[in-house]
Amino acid sequence: MKSWRDECGVFGIWNHPDAGRLTYLGLYAIQHRGQESAGIVSLRGEQHHHHKGLGLVGDVFTEEALNHLPGAAAVGHVRYSTTGLNFLNNVQPLTAQLLNGPVAVAHNGNIVNSEPLRQDLKGRGAIFQGTNDTEILLHMVARHPSSDLSECLRSALEEVEGAFSLAVLSHKALFAVRDPLGFRPLVLGEMPSPAGGVALVVASETCAFDLIGARFRREIEPGEIFWVDADGEHSEFFGEKPARTAKCVFEHVYFARPDSVVFGRSVYETRREAGRILARENPADADLIVPVPDSGVPAAIGFSAESGVPFELGIIRNHYIGRTFIQPHQAIRDFGVKIKLNPQSAILKGKKVVVVDDSLVRGTTSRKIIALVRAAGAAEVHLRIAAPPTTGPCYYGVDTPEKSQLIAATHSLDRICEFVGADSLGYLSMGGLREAVSGGSVDAKGGGSADGYCAACFDGEYPTPLYGMEKSPSSRS
Ligand code: AMP
Repeated sequence: MKSWRDECGVFGIWNHPDAGRLTYLGLYAIQHRGQESAGIVSLRGEQHHHHKGLGLVGDVFTEEALNHLPGAAAVGHVRYSTTGLNFLNNVQPLTAQLLNGPVAVAHNGNIVNSEPLRQDLKGRGAIFQGTNDTEILLHMVARHPSSDLSECLRSALEEVEGAFSLAVLSHKALFAVRDPLGFRPLVLGEMPSPAGGVALVVASETCAFDLIGARFRREIEPGEIFWVDADGEHSEFFGEKPARTAKCVFEHVYFARPDSVVFGRSVYETRREAGRILARENPADADLIVPVPDSGVPAAIGFSAESGVPFELGIIRNHYIGRTFIQPHQAIRDFGVKIKLNPQSAILKGKKVVVVDDSLVRGTTSRKIIALVRAAGAAEVHLRIAAPPTTGPCYYGVDTPEKSQLIAATHSLDRICEFVGADSLGYLSMGGLREAVSGGSVDAKGGGSADGYCAACFDGEYPTPLYGMEKSPSSRS
């Protein structure tokens, strides 16, 4: 059984006559969270309508498809499946007809105890259509005898462990759920509704609100089930409140859009601050600071500001190519670097250059970039990484290769420097990263605080049991 790791984005809206189209726009804004499939389920009367497909949001939804998503509520999902396989049964939102009526689930994150739960459900006769962990949740909701869906959801959620930010649509309500450790972001917003009153929106990132003109209201709290129905808004908590949260630090390092506010903190500001701290921790005698676009740009701005060394766009990116990592095969990824990034000789020739990127995983991207920068005439290339060494896979919804492929898990700093072909290499320290995410903007609930983050990919401290996932790298892909 292959297990699926998802990098995903979710969106939901309630009480807006253009719910389907606004969900389409919302998904457009969070397209960076998953590019292999997209889907929307809308609600008119008590009936669900859906359209899903493989590919980018703009390709999956035509004008005609959007015309077939009527009603005043909808949920949507973008997904990147990390196995080579990507078949339609796994495309979300997942839908089912339950005793309680239709349910559609859009899930971001990864349930770590999915295999024991799946085996248990199969043993009791459950039939699975796909291979993703979200289907397990649906089965568990389906088996609960209550006619109250919030109660069914709560009972199911109390049994699952790991990362899950959910947007769920029934025939009567829109639900937004965040796991008790709060791994993945999920925000609540509102906008005036032409139908009267306010339309409520939920999304993985605030950049989706910016696009549709919604106002950020608050985060869905870790462990919260929020829902809105004909009776108004409701909020409950499930499970035992953990001693601390485990917000994903990698959202700030790489995954989220820089124009989003994640966990109460501007992603752009975190990255720029990380660059400043990196410059203090790992200075370099250089003529230019050059980002790897786009992922390294805010950190390079910070590095330049702190060091006083000029910032230049010495590498130009072709914007019509997807992120290299999204391509599932190594061969395509290798090709991707060359067609995506073009170092400019006019800027780089004869210069001592600091190349700044957000993170270094396998090291293959940096190695190619540095070779290209040297070929463009740079005299020296100093690589600076605005995150600590990536030493552990993520089991909570970010696709990272297995440990043996993480260069920092198996090689010393000197060997990595040699492999990537840099004159020097410097990473941000763990303390530096914590300082960057805190940014001095600690709010009352700890948002923006350095505490309460999961940094397992950097420090190996996994905040949940892993149920054997770490022992079977072949089931990761
Ligand atoms: P590499 O070291 O060749 O594996 O590539 C690292 C680059 O890929 C980083 O500079 C990031 O911009 C990007 N990246 C880092 N982590 C991830 C991830 N989990 N998924 C996709 N891309 C990533």
